[in-house]
Amino acid sequence: MKADLRSDTITKPRPEMLDFMVQAPVGDDCYGDDPTVNELQQECASMFGKEAALFTCSGTMSNQLALKAHTQPGDEIILEKNYHINFFESGPSAHLAQIVLNPVHTEDGVLTPALIEDAINAKPRSPIYSNPRLICLENTIAYYGGKIFPFAVLGAIRTFALKKDMKVHMDGARILNACVATGISPEEYAKCADTVSLCFAKGLGAPFGSILMGDEETINRAKMFRKWYGGGLHQAGFMAAGALYGLRNAWPRLQDDHAKSRLLNNLLKQSEFSFPVSENVDTNIVIFDIKKTSLSAPEFVHHMETRGVCLFPWLGSQVRAVTHQDVSYPEIEWAAKEIMLEAAKLAHKNNQIVYSFPAPRESTIIRAAI
Ligand SMILES: *Cc1c(COP(=O)(O)O)cnc(C)c1O
Repeated sequence: MKADLRSDTITKPRPEMLDFMVQAPVGDDCYGDDPTVNELQQECASMFGKEAALFTCSGTMSNQLALKAHTQPGDEIILEKNYHINFFESGPSAHLAQIVLNPVHTEDGVLTPALIEDAINAKPRSPIYSNPRLICLENTIAYYGGKIFPFAVLGAIRTFALKKDMKVHMDGARILNACVATGISPEEYAKCADTVSLCFAKGLGAPFGSILMGDEETINRAKMFRKWYGGGLHQAGFMAAGALYGLRNAWPRLQDDHAKSRLLNNLLKQSEFSFPVSENVDTNIVIFDIKKTSLSAPEFVHHMETRGVCLFPWLGSQVRAVTHQDVSYPEIEWAAKEIMLEAAKLAHKNNQIVYSFPAPRESTIIRAAI
């Protein structure tokens, strides 16, 4: 068996999606002529209750366009230190938008008006200093195990931002995971931000693309920068069709990805050598700790890869597993057993300890763990 749990970005388009893609009517999107791109943009704008939407190459590009569209060089952005925009995109953010990131440290990734106010007050503010112009949020919060951003706090931040004349961008790469898990609609979430992004190449199973939504003026600005960054595409309708297919068909199935993560998290709880960092998972990301094996996360991940379980090394001794449509329930059960067995063996070898592994569970018990 094999289980690739590195990310939900590894999902490949299903045959039905590919059929839909090759049959899509296309045109030159740089002339606004691609009917499928236009349909995708209209459908997303209406689903999220925004005036306009822009199809982009990647989640990173959507974020970078939002930063550029909302700010002037030298402006400051307040966000949490482990959000994608700070954790992975500090280089492009400095290079492209030329802004200053002011990252807030939290335990759980949840920014609050009080924390944002503290970050604003931590520096002198007057027209001769950097202007805190934008708040960036993330939902779900990838670093913190796909945590759902509490809805009431989003509303409070939106009110705070309006009072401070600041804008809010929500990095919603996995916003639909939050929607299916909470029942809160895309439109309700989008009301809490000026711009929202969404990724099609993750749980939705499309091969390509992301979208940025907001008011017409901001999206027109983003469109200009998309062209400047080399992201103006021509017959992009083939790719937009994959995104549309995912949006229409894969969205409800995200529930299933969440059940797979709950199963994995519950199974890993049986092991003290690969124990999950959270009691519960909100969506499709499981983070577990292997410090008792005395291996680093990259070493453990490399070891598991040779056994057919692909994982992603997180910081320190934490390892990440993401569930998605291309991994089955039996593969999750198998992967969990492999992880637990190998972690126990490695801990035994590296620490010279005697371990006792729990007796194999009946699959009915495993099923009950979902
Ligand atoms: C995946 C992800 C991105 C970036 O998406 P790419 O398409 O890989 O550039 C941005 N933000 C978050 C929260 C993500 O999980």
